[in-house]
Amino acid sequence: MSSAYSAEKMIKRNLILILILVTCSLGASAAAQSTHVHGQGQVGMAIDQNLISMTLESPGADIVGFEHEARTAEEKTAVTEALKQLSNPMFVIQLPESASCKVVQASSEVTSENGDEGHADHEEHTDHDEHEDHEDHADHENEAHGSFIAEYQLECATIAAIDSIKFVYFDHFRNAQSLIVVLIDKNGQHRHEISRDNPILYLKK
Ligand SMILES: [Zn+2]
Repeated sequence: MSSAYSAEKMIKRNLILILILVTCSLGASAAAQSTHVHGQGQVGMAIDQNLISMTLESPGADIVGFEHEARTAEEKTAVTEALKQLSNPMFVIQLPESASCKVVQASSEVTSENGDEGHADHEEHTDHDEHEDHEDHADHENEAHGSFIAEYQLECATIAAIDSIKFVYFDHFRNAQSLIVVLIDKNGQHRHEISRDNPILYLKK
C-alpha cells in the first residue's frame, strides 16, 4: 500500500514535468523515426487525481488540409476556424458527463516548420546537408510542414467516472486518421493508438 501511495504522490507532484517530458520525448521519437506523418497526430495525456492535462499535435494536413502558410482568404479563414475549434477541448475529446469536468485552461497555435524546430527532416540534414528541400517527400509537393498544437487542462469533480474518452476529434477533422496517445495515470505510462475506426481510449481502473 505504501509504495502505491507514494507512487501516486510522485505522479501528482511531477505531473506537469512528466507531461513536458512526454511531449518532448514524443517530439524526439517522432524526429528519430522521421514521422511527420499526415493522418497521424500525437497526444500526451496525464491524469491526476482530479486533473487532466493534455497536449495534441497534429499535422496541418489533418486539420485544414494544407501546411503552407495560409495565403488566400479561404485558407486564412480555415486556419482561424481550426484554431478556434482546437481551443475548445470538447471539440477533441468527449468525457462522461458524470465526471463533471470543466475546462481550466485551453490554448491552440499553429506552427510552420520551415526549418526552425521540430520537423522530422531535421534529423536527415546531417546525412545530406545541401539537399534540395523535401526531395524525398514527393507527396508533400515541396511544401513546408506545419502543425497545429493544442494544450488543455480540465478539472473533474468525479474523475473516477471516466472509464473511456472518445476522441470526437475524428468527427471534426476529416483528414485525421489516427492518434498516438501516451497516457500517464496512476497505472503508469502507456502508449495507445486510436483511430477513426476506433476512436475510444479505454482507461484501466
Ligand atoms: Zn507535412
